[in-house]
Amino acid sequence: MNPQLLFWVPALLRIGAVFLVSGVIGYFFGAVIGLMASAAALVFLVLTQLGYLHRLNSWLDHPDSAKLPDGFGAWTDVFSRLYRLRRDDEKNQAELTEWLARFRQAMTLLPDGVVIMDDVLFLEWCNPAAEKHLGLRQDRDKGMRVTNLIRNPDFMDYIILGRYEKPLTLTLKDRKLIMQIIPFENRRQILVTHDATESERIEMMRRDFIANASHELRTPLTVINGFLEIALLQPNLEAQTRISHLKLMTEQGQRMQNLVEDMLTLTRLESIDYPMRPEHVMIPVLLEQIREEAEALSAGKHAITLKVDGPDIRGSVDELRSAFGNLVSNAVRYTPAEGTIQISWNMGAGGPVFAVRDSGIGIRPENISRLTERFYRVDKSRSRETKGTGLGLAIVKHVLLRHAATLVIESAQGEGSLFKVKFPMAAVYSANEH
Ligand code: ADP
Repeated sequence: MNPQLLFWVPALLRIGAVFLVSGVIGYFFGAVIGLMASAAALVFLVLTQLGYLHRLNSWLDHPDSAKLPDGFGAWTDVFSRLYRLRRDDEKNQAELTEWLARFRQAMTLLPDGVVIMDDVLFLEWCNPAAEKHLGLRQDRDKGMRVTNLIRNPDFMDYIILGRYEKPLTLTLKDRKLIMQIIPFENRRQILVTHDATESERIEMMRRDFIANASHELRTPLTVINGFLEIALLQPNLEAQTRISHLKLMTEQGQRMQNLVEDMLTLTRLESIDYPMRPEHVMIPVLLEQIREEAEALSAGKHAITLKVDGPDIRGSVDELRSAFGNLVSNAVRYTPAEGTIQISWNMGAGGPVFAVRDSGIGIRPENISRLTERFYRVDKSRSRETKGTGLGLAIVKHVLLRHAATLVIESAQGEGSLFKVKFPMAAVYSANEH
């Protein structure tokens, strides 16, 4: 039924009933009594309405949808509508509170910093990343001017110039930060900060690597070009001289090839698209091959021994051949003639251990921690003389990383070196595995 009718019909019926009953009373007991009866009934009706108004008024002081007063007549409708309004309101508020909590949690987990400021840069709110990047503290610094908190001349210039469409890059407490101010609403601004320290470091490493690689390639290229020029200018060179030039050119070509191969190996080892595929590594077979290669490289100048006394492991045969081969060839290359090289494989307390001990030139303690850096060499000329690329130990480091193994280097200058590779117990091969 029409709500207007629902409201008015019962009210009018009630008033009509009062007049009807008063009329009947007046007819039987006289007009005065009838009027008094109708006045009393109307007063009762008004008092009842006032009573409901009072209950509504008291409820409005503490509106709670669970404690809404019961109604009568039109009040039933009023109360039930209020009840619905109140319930919707409570639901909206609960949703809003939940949404706000979720938003705050997301802001807290965000790796980028977010600072909310008013139009004159007074701090209103910031997330933990912004606290870390800018050295702020939300509880301590709220209400303070951001330019008083971030004291940096470049940041001040950025604010003064107000060219917020471009980000600002600055170094703050050894962090490389990229920040930008974004105005929002009418009277608020957001300062967003991004920590670019790590990407900057990677970029620098990439630049260094390219510079080093180019430098390494330039030397053999210069030698080859020089000999080619001689061959062009002096076509009638003596056969012996020509052969010696060709030999030197071949050597330099080989050096470039080694370098390119090592760079490709490193790139592959670092790539996430190239996962390690573990297989059964037959240690005695692998180490025997490595010993033979070492004998060939040494050409009888060293006493090389191999002792295998440990289990097989799971890993990549090719990668381990490259890592163990690098360590053993280093031992040969950095040990003068008549020296000794002992290769061993045994079971240590924490797992299998591969070790190469040489009686060579040794390494000063301050150089040990840098050996696995790309192109790092203690003695550049000696490394080149022995056909080193400067990438061998970087390759070893990456292979071991992929096998959860660790490299331990013990050495002293002039007293030989010991390179140990420690594998975890989990690497031990068991015949039941597939
Ligand atoms: P390289 O190709 O120059 O040998 P590596 O990465 O294999 O490059 O080794 C880095 C440096 O570590 C070498 O240049 C050398 O100075 C030092 N080094 C490595 N192995 C030994 C060793 N067994 N004895 C002495 N020095 C070593």
